[in-house]
Amino acid sequence: MTATFKTLDELDLTNKRVLLRADLNVPVADGKVSDATRIERLVPTIREIVKHDGKAILLSHFGRPKGKVDPEFSLEQVCAAIANETGHPVGFVATDWNDVSAAKQAIDDAPAGSVLVLENTRFHPGEEANNPELAQRMASLGDVYVNDAFSAAHRAHASTEALAHLLPAAAGTAMQAELEALEAGPGKPKKPVIAIVGGAKVSSKIDLLENLVTKVDGLVIGGGMANTFLHARGHGVGKSLAEKDSAETALRIMDKADKASCAIILPIDAVVARHFKADAPTRLYGVDAIDPDGMILDIGPSSVERIKGAIDEAHTIVWNGPMGAFEMNPFDAGTVAIAKYAAERTHAGKLISVAGGGDTVAALAHAGVKDAFTYVSTAGGAFPRMDGRQAPAGCRSAEEVRPDCTSERSHQP
Ligand code: ADP
Ligand code: MG
Repeated sequence: MTATFKTLDELDLTNKRVLLRADLNVPVADGKVSDATRIERLVPTIREIVKHDGKAILLSHFGRPKGKVDPEFSLEQVCAAIANETGHPVGFVATDWNDVSAAKQAIDDAPAGSVLVLENTRFHPGEEANNPELAQRMASLGDVYVNDAFSAAHRAHASTEALAHLLPAAAGTAMQAELEALEAGPGKPKKPVIAIVGGAKVSSKIDLLENLVTKVDGLVIGGGMANTFLHARGHGVGKSLAEKDSAETALRIMDKADKASCAIILPIDAVVARHFKADAPTRLYGVDAIDPDGMILDIGPSSVERIKGAIDEAHTIVWNGPMGAFEMNPFDAGTVAIAKYAAERTHAGKLISVAGGGDTVAALAHAGVKDAFTYVSTAGGAFPRMDGRQAPAGCRSAEEVRPDCTSERSHQP
């Protein structure tokens, strides 16, 4: 154990009220949790607390209620999914974040080993403002604090930051795994390394791309983002999603890659439809001949083969962003093929596969290979650091995250 943050086993959980900062900001459709990945990740920490007769008191934001009580964003609706994943009954504690006395009573009344969920922390404006009084009220509900919400850890909010200083604190097991992987794994990846980057937009990932090209041996670009690069290279992209005003950025990134001897692998063919909808009729085009009325919604089979070839050459892949509009049939084909191939190579012991990003994880789950990757990070926009120092856009480095979890700072009054 090389990590310097305090871990769960260093915290006395026995008969304690354990405030567990979780990330319960899960997708919900028709009142049901549609992807329980983030909840699955919490199970080991919850079990550990329960095993010690502690009360696991879950604290999380959910959606964007903008500091107001809004039943649409009540965390009550995720309790069933938590019960389902943990196999443990889950009690919901309606929490008035202005006056937590009733919540405190409910917690005290619950038997040892209970799993409880407090109401959405963002029902109070103090959450996002990192308000010390709100943090004090939160702290009054627990004896110790465990942060297992890596995907929310980069935000300095009351439940992730101020609160961590008020109680003895530690990282939960999911958080610990994320921090250790950032420190040890992808920070020093085994070469050759290729990065696979896709998703909708270049603009949201410029920093990531610029950083990557100087670190990796090859950069595969797919998804809507590839359209911007194809356009910059002078290919017509029809009515595809493309950020034409980012053409210069794309050229600069390709130039930087060239100087750093990083191969850029762009799609050579594309699945094109006239409409952005599921099961729309499609045609396959080479990227030199895209239908001017068409939209590129997936990479084509020749591109898939080319990317597989690149994966064959690699020891490590780091992946963020789907290769196409994978939420809609049949535009998931490219992403699914790459995901399955990477999983196969990983299973064969030939590849270290690392993936990050909300939609990327959803795509891996859709392909049925989420657990077959070496390491998957649910952190939104988080991506493995490639030099052991620079954090991916939208994600703080382990060094910045860690102080929230160290004993020195967390014991301060
Ligand atoms: P992540 O959440 O893993 O970081 P992004 O949010 O950057 O990934 O991108 C995911 C989104 O990109 C998906 O909703 C997907 O439909 C979209 N996308 C990928 N390729 C295309 C494309 N060719 N045209 C339009 N949207 C695309
Ligand atoms: Mg996304």
